[in-house]
Amino acid sequence: MLSYRHAFHAGNHADVLKHIVLVELLHYLTAKDKRLWYIDTHAGAGQYRIDNTSSNRESSEGIERLWNATDLPEAVQRYLDRVRLRNPDGTLSRYPGSPLLANDSVRVGDRLWLSELHPADHALLNEQFKHDGHVKVQKSDGFAALRSLLPPEPRRALIMIDPSYEVKSDYVQLIDSLVDARRRFATGVYAIWYPLLVRREAEKLGQQLIKAAGPRWLDVAMSVKKPSGERAGLYGSGMFVINPPHTLPATLANLMPGLTKLLAQDAAASFKLNYELS
Ligand code: SAM
Repeated sequence: MLSYRHAFHAGNHADVLKHIVLVELLHYLTAKDKRLWYIDTHAGAGQYRIDNTSSNRESSEGIERLWNATDLPEAVQRYLDRVRLRNPDGTLSRYPGSPLLANDSVRVGDRLWLSELHPADHALLNEQFKHDGHVKVQKSDGFAALRSLLPPEPRRALIMIDPSYEVKSDYVQLIDSLVDARRRFATGVYAIWYPLLVRREAEKLGQQLIKAAGPRWLDVAMSVKKPSGERAGLYGSGMFVINPPHTLPATLANLMPGLTKLLAQDAAASFKLNYELS
């Protein structure tokens, strides 16, 4: 069952947080003169229309709030510059997904491996990268693909795991595949997006991630509004990073207060930043 289409949500508050962290991780990892793999288990379509003709208005409470903001922290500006790269005329009409943001961040010699299961989004993703020899696009289950890919050669990789959580099994598979992945490749950097929802599986996930993570992890979560009732929907999201760069806690501590203010939908908006870097 694949009913989720990221096009309806592209550029929303959750994408903004996810992609700021992603661009920052890639900025750090590409500073070192060693080849890097970027593995995206749930890649989506690659790029999305967010203009008046699209059915997505969630970007109005996400990227559109940042578009004309000034005096942004360096990491937020870096992310915004990546989005601007895809909107060269200065009008925000396209939103780059994680594969495109990654491809705009890597260097010659780095490689991308992208998995997307939805036939229509896979076709769009494939079209996007059909001339890029360093990018491999597969119509495969991202969790299963991880098992066959790890450890990568060379052993230096950022693994982005961004399921749609439309089925309960996504929560179970996520933890199982992290445990397996770390067994194969303990030094990889893993970035996991998760939703803040009034749902038992979502509420339990934080502790399960910490248990699966090993000794070095960082968890940043932002709620943009007060959750109300059982069917409240997405009231925020988080990024959980295994083996984060040592600079990431300070970067996020600096940017999260302002970002939360920019993306707040009511007075209950807040953020949490926890980490263990032993
Ligand atoms: N990572 C993308 C980004 O940041 O631009 C967004 C990805 S979206 C949240 C999740 C995607 O995973 C959807 O496009 C969905 O079709 C795809 N998907 C769902 N289950 C999958 C699976 N088992 N393996 C690979 N892709 C899957």
